Amino acid sequence: MQNIPQDPQQILEHVFGYSAFRGPQREIIDTLMTGGDALVLMPTGGGKSLCYQIPALARPGCGVVISPLIALMQDQVEALRAAGVNAAFLNSSLPFDEAQAIEGALLRNELDLIYLAPERLLQPRTLELLQRIELSLFAIDEAHCVSQWGHDFRADYLHLNCLHEQFPSVPRIALTATADARTRGEIAHRLDLQEQRGARHFVSSFDRPNIQYRIAQKDNPRRQLLQFLRAEQQGSAGIVYCLSRNKVENTADWLCQQGFTALPYHAGLPAPLRAEHQRRFLREEGVIIVATIAFGMGIDKPDVRFVAHLDLPKSVEAYYQETGRAGRDGEAATALLLYGLEDVVKLAQMAESSEGSEEHKRQERARLNAMLGLCEITSCRRQALLRYFGEELAEPCGNCDTCLEPPQTWDGTQAAAKLLSCVYRTGQRFGAAHVIDVLRGSENEKVRKFGHQNLSTYGIGTDLSAVEWRGVVRQLVVRGYLEVEGEFSSVRLTEACRPLLRGEESIQLRKLPPKAARAETRRASAPATELTAADEPLWEALRACRKQLAEENGVPPYVVFHDAT
Ligand code: ADP
Ligand code: MG
Repeated sequence: MQNIPQDPQQILEHVFGYSAFRGPQREIIDTLMTGGDALVLMPTGGGKSLCYQIPALARPGCGVVISPLIALMQDQVEALRAAGVNAAFLNSSLPFDEAQAIEGALLRNELDLIYLAPERLLQPRTLELLQRIELSLFAIDEAHCVSQWGHDFRADYLHLNCLHEQFPSVPRIALTATADARTRGEIAHRLDLQEQRGARHFVSSFDRPNIQYRIAQKDNPRRQLLQFLRAEQQGSAGIVYCLSRNKVENTADWLCQQGFTALPYHAGLPAPLRAEHQRRFLREEGVIIVATIAFGMGIDKPDVRFVAHLDLPKSVEAYYQETGRAGRDGEAATALLLYGLEDVVKLAQMAESSEGSEEHKRQERARLNAMLGLCEITSCRRQALLRYFGEELAEPCGNCDTCLEPPQTWDGTQAAAKLLSCVYRTGQRFGAAHVIDVLRGSENEKVRKFGHQNLSTYGIGTDLSAVEWRGVVRQLVVRGYLEVEGEFSSVRLTEACRPLLRGEESIQLRKLPPKAARAETRRASAPATELTAADEPLWEALRACRKQLAEENGVPPYVVFHDAT
């Protein structure tokens, strides 16, 4: 401690071995140096740790870092000790005598930094201990854990506002890589770090230009992944995310059979094995870790060349955070997501059966919808992604799949208008198949039974095949113009249709990939007269999402990602 300089720049150079501060680091450090509070939103790999480590060293007293994961504390403390800093952690992994020794060191003011799990910090015994010593600051790392809507929610984080009350003169800094405005507001509110109460907010750009975003429909996911790995990622380190533990293990086995070094990681594996796999991923070259979302928070591996998702992440926040683990060294990296509509059903069902309140479920559905929206757009992914986080990117990025290979679209305005009118004319109580029959002028019994051959919309859609019409229906549902309701999956209009029907809006529709079109043909030739049973869970899920959102906001949920075309 005696050898550590007092000036931030000197500490940066002599303790950490870097020559210059990055982005807003200096300003954040200065805020704490002068006793101010700060909320820092910076993408993964942006350099958040130094923002509290340096002022903790430069100010008198010990800095207290609250961190949610034991592995994360260990890594940081090890690195700090290697740099000559007196750092330690206290958590449940520590034997009693070691914990006592650290408490002793704390009381003797020998520590520069102490890392604590929130539950440990909140124990009355720990709080009393901290009252007796000089503190330089409180740093709340991974502060999004305070957000109940995020998937990293930790109940103990909610009680951290007591720090403000119990230690009013100790500056506080909360840090996260989760960027959306709602979460930011929630963090500020729950931790008492609102701007109007004097805390400064530092929001960095969340663009990660070196990451190439690619999102494709699942066709044969294993083959798609293999093709990607063989063609572009031979010998690279990467992360493959799957939704279930089973799939993690199967995928890891299969990748090994294909000649890759792939290791599974999920919460169901014994802790020592998990630690071993994490260690090998960090230390060895070219290891692929196949994991559930349990893997990744705080992993500081700069040369992860790809992150592949074999299932749809449940929110844009999760997608951004998980893909953000690629390319932290600034070199080119790829984020590949393969998604299928069956993922949507699975996630929607998970959200439904979760224990949260109705509001919580509604939020989950909204987030899932936004994620699906990001998958379906035909314009620049990066622009959409950043827009979701409230950031405008002036030009399309030129480094995502939709920029590099613009999806084939067609002007579906007229087709959509025909379809919507036909839905309206038939009374909004029939399924898609019947509406399509009417559009195409089919002469079947059901058409005759309801006298639909006399409608003005009868036969106005002979220009498209039934398969193409089904594609139109699907995309209009996904974009929120149509909803599917009730026992008979009847198709209905939403409020969002108005501008389109008035001719004030045009709509570009994605062309079906040839393979999907073939599959559609097979399906359409089956003797079903309404939507097939296989469609039902999807409609169900989408219907639930849309209904809630429409009631709440009166707008379709895809508004955020609505194509600019
Ligand atoms: P975050 O917590 O924001 O994800 P970290 O604090 O773990 O990011 O930092 C990411 C990487 O960037 C680390 O390897 C760190 O040493 C490095 N880093 C941080 N600040 C600087 C800087 N000013 N100059 C050079 N490297 C830096
Ligand atoms: Mg960090």
